[in-house]
Amino acid sequence: MKYVIISDIHGNLEAFQSVLSWIHSYEENDKVVCLGDIVGYGADPGECIELTRGISDIIIAGNHDFAAVGKTDIDFFNPVAKEAAIWTGGILSNEHINFLKSLPLVCETSDVHFVHSSLYNPDEWRYLLSLHNAQIDFQIMKKDILFVGHSHIPLVFEDRNGKINLITDPEINLDQNAKYIINPGSVGQPRDHDPRASFAVFDSEDRYLKIIRLDYNIQKAQMKIKAAGLPEILAERLSYGR
Ligand code: ZN
Repeated sequence: MKYVIISDIHGNLEAFQSVLSWIHSYEENDKVVCLGDIVGYGADPGECIELTRGISDIIIAGNHDFAAVGKTDIDFFNPVAKEAAIWTGGILSNEHINFLKSLPLVCETSDVHFVHSSLYNPDEWRYLLSLHNAQIDFQIMKKDILFVGHSHIPLVFEDRNGKINLITDPEINLDQNAKYIINPGSVGQPRDHDPRASFAVFDSEDRYLKIIRLDYNIQKAQMKIKAAGLPEILAERLSYGR
């Protein structure tokens, strides 16, 4: 099956529109999967929900989706994230709130697992950035491919008979005999020092993965964040991709 995997849009309509133009011109995809955090931080949460629903075959919940609708505790959020979650919850329609509340934490197809944070206790919103945390998820995976979001850092962990490697190449042919945890990066708030929108295409039969980066109108997204009265740091960080 051919997948387009998007994650962590975070209400950034300009970044998402750039990715959507690419998806619409790419005819090979069988399934579009969104790994959560459609909202939070950016100025256009409602529009991003509508567009995500229009294009996605599978959508799972992120911590910011649940935070905006009171379904996860925001006491652990930093002050900026907390302010953005409260602002987002205040402007969503009831229909959008009910939609976000209904999202599942995990999902799977015949050949791939999908989760926002980690398969191990997904509602604890753990970050899969270390070999140790990746190993915990490798041990409970029932399929050999897992896609995760949450950290906003595109990367791949590979498990070859218990030996775990970190791969940062943007284009990989996955080994038939290894297991993989793949993060496609963030559409709307990249944090790997590259400000371009990030997402992935994956062919599960050819076991081919490519992380794609696209430019978008960062200044427009920044102006909307400031005009909305959201914390200015949320606009500034988009310039630096961090
Ligand atoms: Zn996120």
